[in-house]
Amino acid sequence: MRYISTRGRTEPVSFKQAVIMGLAPDGGLLLPEKIPAVKDKLDFWRDLEYSELTLAVMQEFIENEIPRETLRKLVSKSYAKFESPEVVTVKELDPLFFAELFLGPTLAFKDIALQLLGNLFEHVLEEADERLNLVGATSGDTGSAAIHGVRGKSNIDIFIMHPDGKVSPIQRQQMTSVLDDNVHNIAIQGNFDDSQRILKELFNDLEFKQAYKLGAVNSVNWARILAQIVYYFYAAFKVQNRTGAEAIQVCVPSGNFGNIFAGYLATQMGAPIKRLILATNENDILARFFTTGVYERSAVHPTLSPSMDIQVASNFERYLYYRLGENSGKVEKQMALFAKGGKLALPGPDPLFVAGSATTDQMLAAIRDNYQRHGYIIDPHSAVGIAVASNNLLDDTPTICLGTAHPAKFPEAVRRALGKDLAHHPRIDAIMDLPTRCTTLPPKSESIKDFIRESS
Ligand SMILES: *Cc1c(COP(=O)(O)O)cnc(C)c1O
Repeated sequence: MRYISTRGRTEPVSFKQAVIMGLAPDGGLLLPEKIPAVKDKLDFWRDLEYSELTLAVMQEFIENEIPRETLRKLVSKSYAKFESPEVVTVKELDPLFFAELFLGPTLAFKDIALQLLGNLFEHVLEEADERLNLVGATSGDTGSAAIHGVRGKSNIDIFIMHPDGKVSPIQRQQMTSVLDDNVHNIAIQGNFDDSQRILKELFNDLEFKQAYKLGAVNSVNWARILAQIVYYFYAAFKVQNRTGAEAIQVCVPSGNFGNIFAGYLATQMGAPIKRLILATNENDILARFFTTGVYERSAVHPTLSPSMDIQVASNFERYLYYRLGENSGKVEKQMALFAKGGKLALPGPDPLFVAGSATTDQMLAAIRDNYQRHGYIIDPHSAVGIAVASNNLLDDTPTICLGTAHPAKFPEAVRRALGKDLAHHPRIDAIMDLPTRCTTLPPKSESIKDFIRESS
């Protein structure tokens, strides 16, 4: 399978090249040349264990580029550290189903993709006898999942910047208590925008980028989307097997549109999914788009579900590409309009999607209500999903909400909803007293470059 850019000005690349490349050089995002159709395989896929299903889905997109047995090893290594051998568990929270995607090392769904991405990076680099310095900026969850995905790997160093004093104590501890030699945490004396700006400056310095073999860890890497396609099939099969339903609908708490875009691809491949429910918090650019057809930027509003506090969704361009009939000229034009005026508009709704947003009060009420009725605590991101899903239930089609994080990561929201900090997880409690390592630096790209020069 070859991969093409949404902007159409990059020569098609192989899967391995796509993994290392991240963003296409023309500024676009990479997509498979063709979406595989798998309808005739569903009966065989239905009863596969999670890792075997991952292997089957990935092979559709990788073909022979990585031998099957090699890929099998990479996949099983990626999910060996998960709490349950099932990797993803599906619970019933009547009237909904709830897929726990947060059983990985950092207790967020991002582990599912980043554990695999780390092992793919390691494998591709080993084969090419190369090394990589991964650099990223995080406001919280992505950084720790990325660090845990590559810790201890001999051909990768990872540098993660976070705004000094502006991530939660748990998030900070999840990153800085990882003491492997190849992990470098940097607290930037500034805000998240400073980290983003520095990241851009590092990648724009082509000489430095090449000399130090910089690679990006962010939500646009194709392998992340690929890994996420799997659980849409997996959860749909589980619910079908339990209910006998012909199809299901899936509700996705969304920020950068990476998770739900994987659901979109699963649906295009032939997964038994009738509808996707896109849920946002008060940062509702995506919900507004799917209701009105207008994609318009506004100011970021901090909430208790911070991983969804996003106004420009980095994966949206991938969806736009399909909505514009796979015409990269039109994608470029729309993206240019958006870059200039902060706004673009498409005709007609997409019947595959419904969307809604939940306020902080509605989110807190969803946590409370679920706890009262099921004795089960959901995290604030998943609660946004459940609040929105509850307004979009269908009579004949079961609904699955994707659970994107463990509630123990967000004690403040749990305390506000339930009056007490009731959600704990032994792994979170255990890291709070561990020793940490972190370097504090001024918000200047030269300081970060010096640090990379010294450390890599
Ligand atoms: C990243 C994240 C999201 C948003 O997912 P996108 O792929 O960016 O839409 C939702 N919830 C949690 C807990 C996250 O970490």
